Amino acid sequence: MKKIVKQIYPSIKTKQCWVTFCSTFVMALALIFVIIKNTAVKASISSETTIAQLEEEAFDDSFENDDDMQMTDSADTNEEETIANDNNHSIKLKSGDTLLNILTATGVDYNNANDVYMSVKKVFNPRDFRAGQQIDVENTDSNGSKVVNTLSSTIRTGERLKVTLNNDGSYTAAIEKDELIEELLSASGHINGTLSHSMSKNGVPSKIVANFISIFSYSVDFRRDVKKGDGYEIIYENYLTSDGKVAKNGNIIYAALLLGKNKVELYRFKDSRGNIDYYNSKGFALKKTLSRRPMAYQSNRISSYFGRRRHPIYKDVRIHWGIDYPAPKGSLIYAGGDGVIEVAQYRSGYGNYIRIRHNSEYSTAYGHMNGFAKGMRPGTRVKQGQVIGYVGSTGRSTGPHLHYEVIHRGKRVNPLTIKASASENLRGKNLTNFKRQIAKINDTREKMFAEKQKNEKLARK
Ligand SMILES: [Zn+2]
Repeated sequence: MKKIVKQIYPSIKTKQCWVTFCSTFVMALALIFVIIKNTAVKASISSETTIAQLEEEAFDDSFENDDDMQMTDSADTNEEETIANDNNHSIKLKSGDTLLNILTATGVDYNNANDVYMSVKKVFNPRDFRAGQQIDVENTDSNGSKVVNTLSSTIRTGERLKVTLNNDGSYTAAIEKDELIEELLSASGHINGTLSHSMSKNGVPSKIVANFISIFSYSVDFRRDVKKGDGYEIIYENYLTSDGKVAKNGNIIYAALLLGKNKVELYRFKDSRGNIDYYNSKGFALKKTLSRRPMAYQSNRISSYFGRRRHPIYKDVRIHWGIDYPAPKGSLIYAGGDGVIEVAQYRSGYGNYIRIRHNSEYSTAYGHMNGFAKGMRPGTRVKQGQVIGYVGSTGRSTGPHLHYEVIHRGKRVNPLTIKASASENLRGKNLTNFKRQIAKINDTREKMFAEKQKNEKLARK
């Protein structure tokens, strides 16, 4: 039996070798083909000045909307171009149109159309024009022939492409942005199913819902704390273009969760240093507890606790000022809380060392790192959970681990027993400004929710 296995085994091995060899060969061929093809594409892009190739850059017709249908219907009556006079053209793009052919159709020659095309390309890819979009072109007479004088088109909500002819005959293209109008929107309701589902059903944009959840994620355990019938309130910014279209969502300025009889309210505030955070009505910062184990590698192992211990290298009793978390070399180390990097350098016994200041009370330190993440230097602002470096064994260390310290008012304390907050409560002038701001928000809030509360009271009767 053993013999047979042995005999079969080599033949299988040879077969496997052949299969590996053949597939590698095929893959290599495919790779060469892709490289050749890419070179060809690059070549065609670099010779983009030739008109024939430009003409092939037709617009995608991914917007098959009602407007297009109308276009096709009215094409018979030749109304797709509203001509005010010979020089003013208002063109609605059809699928298959190219910027070049619509320009030459207005009476300018290929060279002029190409000049316009090249200037547009510097700020906007002409292939991103869509069927149904409108382009306004104004031509002018120059030395007996027509040239484009101006071109304009709304390319995105609130953004307009503008091309103008300069005195020297060249063109300048730019994208002009509408000044946006800020408005405040509110929503409130009861939670039925998940919070995000309830909010979305109430018309709150998904991006705002995600922000709402992340704001509360430090203080609320959504799976455990939120029950059916609990409520929420939200006020957020929304930005509109001058013609009333939504350009983008803004910040959440007020968020509240009604959990049973307990209402958790948060107000957005920018302090005098420019730090933005959410606070309760008393100006207390959202509790963002410092991580006890700020790393990606998940294990319960601790190789050395805080306090007196026999030193693994010096073999005498010393105080160990942090916690040692063994982890494979290179695994990710996170910032234990929001803060600013104070130190990021090699420090003898510590090896590669980072210290983060979280507020006037707390800092955290990280030792024996294999290396720092990109951009980690004094003054860099970091968020809790952001990667700051990698586990290593630099300095006086016997193996790869993270040496983690929590420093409270300049003294190193046990990271496992502290209840530290990474955020600071508002005081002094900041608190005064905050109180003034929340009075305004509360005013707005009362007005916004008054109508709704009235309706709810009627419904209860
Ligand atoms: Zn240590």
